[in-house]
Amino acid sequence: METDYEQVLGDAETALDQVDAALGRLADGSYGVCATCGERIADERLAAEPTTEACGQHAV
Ligand SMILES: [Zn+2]
Repeated sequence: METDYEQVLGDAETALDQVDAALGRLADGSYGVCATCGERIADERLAAEPTTEACGQHAV
């Protein structure tokens, strides 16, 4: 199957947006806090998925 570069680049763009958003949260001090419940996100979870904005319980 031929690679759908538009799809690949679209995914990369989404990932970039997520990194951007994570950096923004890092700057305003809300990084590592669940956007849903406000609890600290576990370090292991952040290590595995640094751009996540939800704790394990509220991850989609
Ligand atoms: Zn949560």
